[in-house]
Amino acid sequence: MVMAGVHVSIAGGIGESVSRASRLSCASFQIFTHSSRTWDFPEFTDEEVEDFRERCLRELSGAPFLIHASYLINIASSRPDLVLKSSIALNLEWELANRLGATGLVLHPGSTGGEPVGEALERASEVILSVIEKGCSGTTRLLIENTAGAGHTLGRNPQEIGRILELVGHSEKMGICLDSCHLLASGYEIRNESGYSETISRFLDIAPRGKADAFHLNDAYAGLGSSRDRHTHIGIGHIGPWFFWRLLHDQRFSDIPLVLETPKKEGTPEDALNLRVIRRLSEMDFPPEKNNADLDHLIDQLREFSPK
Ligand SMILES: [Zn+2]
Ligand SMILES: [Zn+2]
Repeated sequence: MVMAGVHVSIAGGIGESVSRASRLSCASFQIFTHSSRTWDFPEFTDEEVEDFRERCLRELSGAPFLIHASYLINIASSRPDLVLKSSIALNLEWELANRLGATGLVLHPGSTGGEPVGEALERASEVILSVIEKGCSGTTRLLIENTAGAGHTLGRNPQEIGRILELVGHSEKMGICLDSCHLLASGYEIRNESGYSETISRFLDIAPRGKADAFHLNDAYAGLGSSRDRHTHIGIGHIGPWFFWRLLHDQRFSDIPLVLETPKKEGTPEDALNLRVIRRLSEMDFPPEKNNADLDHLIDQLREFSPK
């Protein structure tokens, strides 16, 4: 059984996210602890943290979960004020992730703003190191996510992520999170066996302990090398079902959170349908070919929810 789950909302209180994941029978999940587009950081009482932890145990049998850090954080910036703000925010995010018991805190490595890449990677590593040195107690790892490579963003290839990890060291506190949409968007052909094997081994080669700590399962709305960070439903985008089938049968990813970040609206069935596609693919002994009536039927239902 794969550890598939979805990104869920914390509307109504952080504990409610657990119930949302539980209603979808998730084996893992992901949350933002606050609006990912503001600097306001929430304060959670010990009671709220305890309630969240207790619900994880009771409703999800202690399933692993991820926290996605705010999109505003840019630890690679050449602007000192933004780096300071980002460093404070990262420290708070990581402390809260440890209090809540998250497996991983997912972070985009930031943007160079057009400045030289090498220096930006050094700045990013210094910020992470300073946060680690402030003393992060707990078991939450900081997971650097590969990115779609739009504009001046870092993380579009294993070299950049590897450089940050190399400079930071502390491999027990660090890890990587791969995102399938971002892999295709940043130019990695992952839709056939040779492309899949080569891409995955290049990224795992730079990963602490030679292992990914999480995978974001998203199909890509735009094509190979588009640099566009636009997710779509599993099976209907430019990646298609084969990649997901292959990943779901790859032992290297059998014991880590596989989290969907696919588009959805409150009260509509996209999450449940995407999870059914993932579960169906994970049960199939052979790669999906044409004429898999039940799989095609699920994917056709998702087409109705295709983003415009
Ligand atoms: Zn992602
Ligand atoms: Zn994305």
